[in-house]
Amino acid sequence: MEQKYDSFIGLEVHIHLLTKTKVFCGCRSAFGDEPNTNVCPVCLGYPGVLPVLNLEAMRMGCTVARSLECTIPERTWFERKQYFYPDMTKNYQISQFASPLGQNGSMMLEGKGSDGKAISRKVRIKECHLEEDAGKMIHTGTVSLLDYNRAGVSLLEIVTEPDMKTGEEAELFIRQLRRLVRYLGVCDGNMEEGSLKADANVSINQKGKGLGSKVEIKNLNSSRFIRLGLNHEIGRQGILLDEGKPVVQETRLWNENRDQTETMRTKEDAADYRYFPEPDLPVFCPDKIFRESVENALVVLPQTRYGYFISDYGLNGEQAELIVDEKQGADYFENAVREAEKRGLEKKEAAARIANWMLTDIKGILNRGGRSFHDLDSFCLTPSRLAALIDLIAKGVISGKTAKKTAALILAEDKDPLTIVKEQDWEQVNDSAKIAAAAVDIAKAEEAVLNQIREARNAGNTKRAASLAAFLTGKVLAALGGRCDPKLAAAQVEALVE
Ligand code: ADP
Ligand code: ZN
Ligand code: MG
Repeated sequence: MEQKYDSFIGLEVHIHLLTKTKVFCGCRSAFGDEPNTNVCPVCLGYPGVLPVLNLEAMRMGCTVARSLECTIPERTWFERKQYFYPDMTKNYQISQFASPLGQNGSMMLEGKGSDGKAISRKVRIKECHLEEDAGKMIHTGTVSLLDYNRAGVSLLEIVTEPDMKTGEEAELFIRQLRRLVRYLGVCDGNMEEGSLKADANVSINQKGKGLGSKVEIKNLNSSRFIRLGLNHEIGRQGILLDEGKPVVQETRLWNENRDQTETMRTKEDAADYRYFPEPDLPVFCPDKIFRESVENALVVLPQTRYGYFISDYGLNGEQAELIVDEKQGADYFENAVREAEKRGLEKKEAAARIANWMLTDIKGILNRGGRSFHDLDSFCLTPSRLAALIDLIAKGVISGKTAKKTAALILAEDKDPLTIVKEQDWEQVNDSAKIAAAAVDIAKAEEAVLNQIREARNAGNTKRAASLAAFLTGKVLAALGGRCDPKLAAAQVEALVE
């Protein structure tokens, strides 16, 4: 299939912005409240009321737009998009059409698709625009109920150009975008709850012939369904073209129970909405102060961090991917490495140890408590404590095994690593005189074993000699309470045999 046809995928992603109030009124923007409690004449669409733009929504929208390399125009404004449906009592949605807040951007897809193949593709962002959400209709048997708490909530729509080729690429786009908006703190990215939703557009055509006729797929409420829905649709269109049949331009619904797309309606055109400029809202001209506030809210992008976590810190792709996933995780990692460097550890060595701790022990502890890297800001084993712990291992003060016990106590008692190691008397004995003295004591008590080792060696039975030596080493370690590097103890035993 892929050899025969070109495929084109464009996404329209809606994200709920985490503004405290709605986009054109002062109602609380919250989910899960009693139905119709966060409403007022503006978001209920009473005649004669006036919308007022929520600047925070505009700022958050522009922050996403700038992170996607979009230009914010000198003048941006709102239009009325007209349609008739009970979820929008005004019979129009205030949206943006002719001059959206963000224009002509791009995002670089970089990483592995869920089929394991590497992806590297630049996706152009056509626009980002701000609009209001509609109310929620709940159908129960013969009646339909309406909850307008969601009506007027700030929505940002991000529209890509049809630059993606496969379901895997679209899935990666969603994963990267989700990560980005969570980094920026403008959306929680929860797809199950609908905070982030995507409609997928796809067409295929004979090689080199450009775009085909577009099918839009709705009801894709996870990044996995986006991949499955698109790949299924590419296959379906391929069969039609194989048979010489046309692809009908329409909107299809993903049926997750049957793993297929089904016709929903033939698509309306922009003309059907009769967009016209919203007369009740002034044109928004971002001034210097507004633009600065947007630039100040920008963060180092997750893709950027992914890149230098590999090149500068020496992580592998899989480690970098997992640590970069949440901003709190990436921050934790970088802070811990910085603290370890202050203690004299080499950067890449510290990074390797810290990544290892994060992806095994720390991840395990967080998971058991129902938490994730997202919660690392309030984690009692802070970056500086982890760095101190790693420093103790690197300097041979404690073993890796003791370090794990120490970590558990740091969490239980909220104390520094060294305090715990001292309190518990867990420091390793590195003093060779002490180890030698313990070995001499053991040798006195086990004189016979010492002789057996010598005999075995003379007889060429190295296996028996080694096992007897290990037995003595174990005795020395036990005498030192296990707080000794086994190699040092073995060396002292060896010295006595000779
Ligand atoms: P419409 O006017 O039908 O809403 P847009 O031009 O606004 O179409 O594009 C909507 C989405 O569909 C965008 O993400 C765009 O990339 C994508 N798209 C447009 N035309 C095609 C096509 N022929 N094949 C695949 N995707 C397309
Ligand atoms: Zn309101
Ligand atoms: Mg459109």
